[in-house]
Amino acid sequence: MRTYEKSRAKLAEAKQVLAGGVASTLRGSMKPTPLYAESSSGVIVRDVDGNEYIDYLLAYGPLILGHAHPGFNEKVGRAMAKGISYGLQHNGEIELARRLTEVLPCADKVALSGSGTEAVMLALRLSRAYTGKRKVVRFHGHYHGWSDSIFTSFPSPDMMQKATSAGESSVPPGTKGQSEFSLQDVILLPWNEPETLEATLREHAGDIAAVISEPVMCNSGCILPKPGYLEKMRELTRELGIVLILDEVITGFRLSPGGAHGRFGITPDLVTVGKALGGGIALSAVGGRRDIFELIDSEQVSHLGTLNGNGVATAAGLAVLEELTANGGAVYGTMEDNAIKLAGGIRDLFAKRGIRGVVNQIGPVFHMMFIDEDEVTHFDTFQKRDAAKYAKFAEYMLDEGVLVRPNGLWYISAVHEPSHIEATLAAIDRTFVRLT
Ligand code: PLP
Repeated sequence: MRTYEKSRAKLAEAKQVLAGGVASTLRGSMKPTPLYAESSSGVIVRDVDGNEYIDYLLAYGPLILGHAHPGFNEKVGRAMAKGISYGLQHNGEIELARRLTEVLPCADKVALSGSGTEAVMLALRLSRAYTGKRKVVRFHGHYHGWSDSIFTSFPSPDMMQKATSAGESSVPPGTKGQSEFSLQDVILLPWNEPETLEATLREHAGDIAAVISEPVMCNSGCILPKPGYLEKMRELTRELGIVLILDEVITGFRLSPGGAHGRFGITPDLVTVGKALGGGIALSAVGGRRDIFELIDSEQVSHLGTLNGNGVATAAGLAVLEELTANGGAVYGTMEDNAIKLAGGIRDLFAKRGIRGVVNQIGPVFHMMFIDEDEVTHFDTFQKRDAAKYAKFAEYMLDEGVLVRPNGLWYISAVHEPSHIEATLAAIDRTFVRLT
């Protein structure tokens, strides 16, 4: 059995000086203890106790090229040697912006920021300024960053009903300390229900500035949109003068070079991208319609950020895009093949070991869950999964040398190979035996 004593000691040390002991609240949930990394390369991470893992966490998504990718490091290192950040304009901004308008089908122009949260904040601001309306429709189970104006927790339908009939806001804040007014302009709807969406949009069209949606519900079960659902969302928003924002912070550059909207052929008014775009460096972007960005051109809408478009971030974005689109984007096929093999292999192991579970996969991302259902196509069903059992599974997988997110979402990178997939399936099989 592996030990994690040095990681435990490091956490205790961190707690003296670092709020929460971890730099992002979510990371604190890892069992048996949040791990401290020592070094990494390719798909392998080493912790401070000397344990090695095949990595499917990929830093919560950004490391689509894996760790310490030589081409990426070389390009970013070269940019860093030249000048990290200027507060002046530089050619890297133009090159990255141009490249993004080439790969993202919906983007006539882009704006650059540092995180997915900031990209979403800008997209919401642009939508309100463009339409002159206030309200924003968002969906149960989706995550759009932690800014006050959009961060919610997810009540059960019962709780929502009770709150609404008691005259309270039916959109509960995601954290203590969030202003009670911050979500008053948010309408929270179930996703993948075209009728509910249509009824709400038609009733409140005069007040709704934007609909924001993940194109695939990656944050809750990797649930695909029902056939026709995103098309319906597109048609209705266009008809009713509402800005459609697809939040592609996870799916961007992952489901295809043009993200999910490129893959599905849906053109949102605005798209938000982050994570994979920076390859591990802080970088995000909003892309979209020229007439919406006119609000920034004319300085009616402010878009700020000391480090926006810095030389390291733009070099990182260009390096990621260059690697992903080399050889006609052949790496997308490789990543998807590996994901299909792993997801299919897990389903076979569920059957072999008599375990009830579902794996929802698209492109190089999938969600694995223990659940007594044949399929998971809706957030309410997803909520029935055995999250505690999965957390145990993730913990046991560390002993097998496989690093996965404690909540069930797996990422495959461009550098995972069939041998990693086979080793991982063998580890899962042993872990299933240990779990039962
Ligand atoms: N939007 C989506 C769909 C996300 O999954 C995330 C992060 O997980 C965000 C926005 C926020 O991005 P960041 O963590 O870079 O602020």
